[in-house]
Amino acid sequence: MSERAAPFHCPYCGDEDLRPGEQGHGAWECGACNRAFQLKFLGLLARGLKRADNGGDDRT
Ligand SMILES: [Zn+2]
Repeated sequence: MSERAAPFHCPYCGDEDLRPGEQGHGAWECGACNRAFQLKFLGLLARGLKRADNGGDDRT
């Protein structure tokens, strides 16, 4: 199984004309600037999943 991460904007020119590239997994091509790039999943961040628990009930 493969989960695709689809970019919404080209990281180079910001255009939305993106199409899956032929270079393989995670490859995308921008139709606006003709750049090909590849997304790579680096891993999960250790931070961010846990919320700071204040232990208090903040009301307003
Ligand atoms: Zn582009």
